[in-house]
Amino acid sequence: MRPVDIIDKKRNNKALSKEEISRFFQEYLHGGVTDYQVAAFLMAICFNGMSNEEIFALTSEMIASGETIKFDDVEAFLIDKHSTGGVGDKTSIAIAPLIACLGMATAKLSGRGLGHTGGTIDKFEAIEGFQFAKNETDLNALINQTGIGIAGAAKNIVPLDKKLYALRDVTATVQSIPLIASSIMSKKLAIHADGIILDVKVGSGAFMKDTETAKELSKTMLQLAKDFERKMIVVLSNMDQPLGFSVGNSLELIEAIETLKGNGPKDFTELVIHLVATALFIKGDTNSIEEATDKVKALIGTEEPLEHLRKFIKESGGNEKLVDDYTLLPVAEKTIEVVSTVDGYVHKIVADQIGNAAMELGAGRKTKTDQVDHSVGIILHKKVGDKIEKGDGLATLYFNSDHQLEDVMDMVKDAYTILEEEISAPKVILETIIS
Ligand code: URA
Repeated sequence: MRPVDIIDKKRNNKALSKEEISRFFQEYLHGGVTDYQVAAFLMAICFNGMSNEEIFALTSEMIASGETIKFDDVEAFLIDKHSTGGVGDKTSIAIAPLIACLGMATAKLSGRGLGHTGGTIDKFEAIEGFQFAKNETDLNALINQTGIGIAGAAKNIVPLDKKLYALRDVTATVQSIPLIASSIMSKKLAIHADGIILDVKVGSGAFMKDTETAKELSKTMLQLAKDFERKMIVVLSNMDQPLGFSVGNSLELIEAIETLKGNGPKDFTELVIHLVATALFIKGDTNSIEEATDKVKALIGTEEPLEHLRKFIKESGGNEKLVDDYTLLPVAEKTIEVVSTVDGYVHKIVADQIGNAAMELGAGRKTKTDQVDHSVGIILHKKVGDKIEKGDGLATLYFNSDHQLEDVMDMVKDAYTILEEEISAPKVILETIIS
């Protein structure tokens, strides 16, 4: 069958076999199918969707296009926690040491951020001298020594996804549940963790804007986990406002450490505890997530997770003393406060706008080649539900350059909606979907 016949079949909403999907993408990888043919095929998928069998076939092809990691030298139960991303999301930094305290270990390949703020990699790179494991042997050793296996994507994992995502980005074919599910899950399934915890963010600052679509995506991803015989739980969490108070690389690292010490923001602490509890539950050590939650709560404020984090930082070439002395981290010395001009209650904080303001200060990248300034960012002082009086600080900006500072201050101020009526703080965890 010619590529055009396969495209035609999808356009006419006819079922494709595993062999047809496999041949189409194999030929794409080897130059026998062109970008414009794949673009047409992707658009047909956007309109007609895919059956579970077709999504399984596509995901299998994605995984087979690159290398995989098996962690044969690690005995601990391995957790891969993945978040679909949002503003102020420093969850991986706080949950990895807690997971290590509970007889499990983290196995996670993280990325550099494009957009608002850096990714997990950028946040750890705020630490002077810090270097991620360079190869699989080093990563295995790091996991065995520290229980924390966070690394950059050194291997050639799922190259077909990179090719397809670049094409989807410029052909308006990103927003398709089967394509998003196979893209996210292929990268999770290529890494052989024992349990996957997916934190799917929902809201104005997230990729998924509403709960219904997020649920549909979650169910599709859970079906894939089942098809590939992998344990997975999906947590839907709120991203209608930034997570926690801090946005920016060093600032987020500090907030994650403060959370382990028991001084974290309420929303972020709740999410961290819940995600670690789902990890413990998926391992099978507890009968319920509630029981697991009590075990995780008991660790917050103790030395145990901090000790795991110190070890991870030390083994990675950084100065572990920063866990107790934040002056060892780069934090911009110039600060300015954005104040409220009205009394009332915070009803909304447009997460994307806070993220973009942080990016303008230098915390994130506009293009792949931009350098991140780890020292800059924003600390919010008020969140949704908080009472506010005229003159109160809404947020403090940490900056190095005055360039466009007034504009950034306006962006932060405009991100807030303050009204007279009282409003309660929104729920952080919207739903936990086990299967
Ligand atoms: N994140 C991914 O990795 N892939 C998508 O398609 C969308 C979000």
